[in-house]
Amino acid sequence: MNEAQWGALRSAATAGVSFDGLVLEQTGEGFVLETPAERYEPVGEAALREMLAGDEDAASFVSNWYYWTQVLDVAADRYAYLRWLEHADERDVPTRYEKLADGVTREWGQLLVTVQLGEAGQRRYNLRHVADRDADPTALDERTDPRDARDLSTYDDGGRYRPLKTAPSLAPGWRFADLDGPDLVRAVDFFYPATVSNWHREREGELDVSHWRPTAERQTGIYEIVEGLPDAAVGWAAEACCVDSQCLKRREWDLDENTELDVARGEGEFPCREPCSLLIAAAREWTELEREETRTYELELTPSEREQIAEIVDAVADGRVDEIREADVGDGANRYRARYLRAKRFGALDVADGEE
Ligand code: SF4
Repeated sequence: MNEAQWGALRSAATAGVSFDGLVLEQTGEGFVLETPAERYEPVGEAALREMLAGDEDAASFVSNWYYWTQVLDVAADRYAYLRWLEHADERDVPTRYEKLADGVTREWGQLLVTVQLGEAGQRRYNLRHVADRDADPTALDERTDPRDARDLSTYDDGGRYRPLKTAPSLAPGWRFADLDGPDLVRAVDFFYPATVSNWHREREGELDVSHWRPTAERQTGIYEIVEGLPDAAVGWAAEACCVDSQCLKRREWDLDENTELDVARGEGEFPCREPCSLLIAAAREWTELEREETRTYELELTPSEREQIAEIVDAVADGRVDEIREADVGDGANRYRARYLRAKRFGALDVADGEE
């Protein structure tokens, strides 16, 4: 226990301390200090200080109290998040300290956060991509400014712009080392904006969900038409955009508060409280398309060709096209197979009109 911790504890004792299992009271006869393992009967100030200097366990309760109540000065959502990172609600202080000595790691989307015990009970935070869990730190691009997270999250590994920050397409290869608590949450916020605050609101039972219908009704300008998207199409839209393979948020909105969408919500740690701008933009397109009447087309296909069309649609929808090797002509979505099908079946056919 250092001077600053002792000074703060001594001052706080007048009003009494009760935090994470540490209880300290000042009575007419002296100080009473209690942890889950020990109770020190009224002792004088000098004896209390001496006892804390010699009792590592009791001192860890003090440094823990000091970090969470005297050092950290962050909003309630950030505070709760930092506590969650080290399982503060589930583990007592000795267990936490034991684990923090080696580092406690938690995932947040594609982020891997590791908390370690620093000097005198301070916490230090490291951040990297989950895919770099076992990577040699020297092989990663080291960053120190949390604002760098904005650039790191702009493009995917292939250099393509990421319109949805919570898409599972964050590029690996970087790390933030030795951040303090506020900077750690700032970096997380740049990677995944508002996820910490919405996660916290949900935990507090205060997540203000805006469902599809009221959200669609609020749209103006070119997006006004999305109000006309049929109910079934809203489900298809959620299936297209909001499942785990496309977005790491857990969808909490539905058609309206009484009508659930029959689509998986996702397993994400942080919730999605309303249809996002990407979904609204896509819904505008789908609203236009859904206005078209269906027609009947006649097209001769072998069973294998019909199967191949399904394989092409799946490969595009699952973002697998780039993985299909040119030599793998056994895959229906192989480029040569697709070109062969186009030459054979679609070469002279104007598919848009359904007429030759
Ligand atoms: S609306 Fe869907 S795609 Fe958009 S952030 Fe929410 S869950 Fe993700």
